[in-house]
Amino acid sequence: CGIVGYIGTADAKEILLRGLEKLEYRGYDSAGIAVANEKGVHVYKEKGRIAALREAVDPMQQSDVGIGHTRWATHGVPSQLNAHPHQSSNSRFTIVHNGVIENYEQIRREFLPNVNMVSDTDTEIIVQLVEVFSKDGLSTEQAFRKTLSQLEGSYATALIDDEDRETIYVGKNKSPLLIGLSDGVNVVASDAMAMLQVTNEFVEIEDKEVVIVTRGEVQIKKLNGEEVDRDSYIAEIDS
Ligand code: GLU
Repeated sequence: CGIVGYIGTADAKEILLRGLEKLEYRGYDSAGIAVANEKGVHVYKEKGRIAALREAVDPMQQSDVGIGHTRWATHGVPSQLNAHPHQSSNSRFTIVHNGVIENYEQIRREFLPNVNMVSDTDTEIIVQLVEVFSKDGLSTEQAFRKTLSQLEGSYATALIDDEDRETIYVGKNKSPLLIGLSDGVNVVASDAMAMLQVTNEFVEIEDKEVVIVTRGEVQIKKLNGEEVDRDSYIAEIDS
């Protein structure tokens, strides 16, 4: 029921866990994070409280980029398997998602007949579709935009690519999502409260936009790739 993302210079897992704790008020049944470093992408997820997730995370896992999620199950029971993040079959792509993909069965039949699904979630088709389009020769950004163009329903989603650990890809439709800006650090959150620990400067994202977030830059685009200009604002909320 909430997502967070971090790319910067500090310890990503700690910032993500703290961010998820700030989102606890929204309600959830499970939680997870994925952090990336030179050894790969590491996923930790647990049914139940953030405290259980915190216990499960390897304290030695150093990383300065990652994504996190609190889940309120809509498709598939609350379980560790169905908790986010979810990965594509080749483990290259890792995703978190809030919302409901209404046409996920149709997408599965049309594009993913030979893909072995690991979870019972509607979410998993998003990350599997990115892998399929990427194998067709598209860049990750193109594959992500093409994937989101196929989706009906609601999503706030963040994706990382094991082959480019310098970027978080973000998409939004009918679910809340903000990008937070700082110096050499950028963050993603469903609610500014989650990331006031890093910054109070945010950019709003509109429906059917994607954001390509790196340490130094935040690029907003429409699903067709057209660039969008948007001013940031200062959030006036007490943390
Ligand atoms: N529909 C997704 C699921 O059931 C995401 C739910 C959420 O928004 O947390 O896993």
